[in-house]
Amino acid sequence: MEKYAVSACLCGTNCRYDGKNKRCASIESFARENGALRICPECMVMRPPHLPSEITADGRVIGQDGRDVTEIFREGARRTLQLCQKHGITRVILKEKSPSCGVHQIYDGTFTGTLVEGRGIAAALLEENGIEIISEDDFLEGRVF
Ligand code: SF4
Repeated sequence: MEKYAVSACLCGTNCRYDGKNKRCASIESFARENGALRICPECMVMRPPHLPSEITADGRVIGQDGRDVTEIFREGARRTLQLCQKHGITRVILKEKSPSCGVHQIYDGTFTGTLVEGRGIAAALLEENGIEIISEDDFLEGRVF
């Protein structure tokens, strides 16, 4: 039996860098009906609100102030993976474009609103460890696992 997790911000948790959420009613309903675990890799290591971060072309994560926060994001990803493994999670719906949760697209590290193909740090780690990931856009377009 599949067990699901969902990016917490999609379920209305105010865990984004700006202290807000990206609530999506249909994903919130899916999460409730399927008993999905709500996860937020960044909340594992930072308390919102905080500066936004982006992934540079060389794979580092930098804050808007130029600080290298790669290790902080990796730690958040590791803790998220551990939590998912503890709960036997097999499939995850993640918030697109996030430096942690992005599935297909992320911002390019220039803080100019430029998107590039790529995975967030936590999304990549979950996938590397055999957990299926899709974005909220995939879910909304009917590409459900
Ligand atoms: S880390 Fe993921 S779950 Fe947390 S606020 Fe960012 S996109 Fe949402």
